[in-house]
Amino acid sequence: MSKIRVKTPLVEMDGDEMTRIIWAIIKEKLILAHIDIDLRYFDLGVTHRDATDDKVTVEAAEAIKEFGVGVKCATITPDQDRIQEYKLKKAWPSPNGTIRSVLDGTVFRKPIMVKNITPAVSSWKLPIVIGRHAYGDIYKAVDFVVPGPGRVEIVYTPAQGEPVKLPIQNFKGGGVVMGMHNTDASIRSFAKACIACALSEKMDLWFGAKDTISKRYHARFKDIFFEEIEGRKADLAAAGVAYRYLLIDDAVAQIMKHRGGILWACMNYDGDVMSDMVASGFGSLGMMTSVLVSPKGHFEYEAAHGTVRRHYYEHLKGNPTSTNPVASIFAWSGALRKRGELDGTPDVVAFADALERSVIECIESGLVTKDLMNLVTPRPATHQTTECFLDAVAAGLATHLGRKAVSAD
Ligand code: NAP
Ligand code: MG
Repeated sequence: MSKIRVKTPLVEMDGDEMTRIIWAIIKEKLILAHIDIDLRYFDLGVTHRDATDDKVTVEAAEAIKEFGVGVKCATITPDQDRIQEYKLKKAWPSPNGTIRSVLDGTVFRKPIMVKNITPAVSSWKLPIVIGRHAYGDIYKAVDFVVPGPGRVEIVYTPAQGEPVKLPIQNFKGGGVVMGMHNTDASIRSFAKACIACALSEKMDLWFGAKDTISKRYHARFKDIFFEEIEGRKADLAAAGVAYRYLLIDDAVAQIMKHRGGILWACMNYDGDVMSDMVASGFGSLGMMTSVLVSPKGHFEYEAAHGTVRRHYYEHLKGNPTSTNPVASIFAWSGALRKRGELDGTPDVVAFADALERSVIECIESGLVTKDLMNLVTPRPATHQTTECFLDAVAAGLATHLGRKAVSAD
């Protein structure tokens, strides 16, 4: 049988450690066995980033801009330990950070749901996607311990004109002060990316802030969001996507009794906190995907977890591993589905659906990696190795597609 043809090239970014091992198996057995695709390959493994002085990361991000869709393996963000371990020239920045800044994108995290893992919140039946604004607020704040009595003010010195001074507090004793900021451009990009993601996922969009208290700072976010929503009103209506602004405390209360199927846009700090709450509420890091969406509608898919370092060291010792490849597989299916949607090739979209169905059927039949053993009910008798789990997915996929599975050897 002939392979399914993907029209436009897909940008592939390889990575590090255990996820790199898994990546090669996914690519061979699940993707290239069935798909005829022009993969624009960038090796973001840490030694190759080092050899290219990290230019390869920027080239990969530029390629996503050119072709529209990318899929990325988890990568090491080097620290002092890693510099020694991999004999690197320096502590190169986080590849995700670099790609995010080239694409000016926002990261959305989405849980993968299966019937035999019950979310901690019983009303959650559909995924809750968290969109976290990744610039500014307390993450770029200047804070200061006030040692004793004195006045603290904010001073704005405009490029032209007179400085404006605003009093913060007249301290009678010691205390603390923080000055934080955001920019209209960044807030607008965030709003645009949330709208692009809501349209792509066909999910209602919520945005929560505290404009009743923060009548200028938070209100600015609310107003910019509203302007961007107004600009895309027709697209949102056509896709059946509704927008709702809520106070952040109301959003938290509502989400706990909602069935899900919501894209929840959060300011930076709220997104930091709420993404961890939602992730653990749905189960495991191995079941969480992540997509970077640029305001221009470029997409980069990856697993939300890292390179699973501990498992890699076991693998290097020749020991069997039981690493969950699900989020990495869903990175591929997500990227291929998006490619198929953009290219107008329903057979590619159907392949992505079949791949995801094969994964979900394995888990729902009790074939799981070790991280899911305590989460699935009923508890399976044993867990699968990384390779056995991937073989089971490959066999299921081949059945769905009516082809023979590619054997392990
Ligand atoms: P990690 O890779 O997320 O793994 C932390 C622990 O979580 C693992 O040791 C494992 O627990 C569990 N885990 C995560 N993913 C799993 C999976 N797919 N299957 C089974 N268990 C899983 O974080 P790390 O090991 O602390 O960090 C390793 C490297 O990843 C770091 O160098 C960091 O820079 C990088 N990182 C990259 C990204 C990215 O590229 N997006 C994101 C985060 C971190 P047990 O050991 O208990 O089994
Ligand atoms: Mg956090």
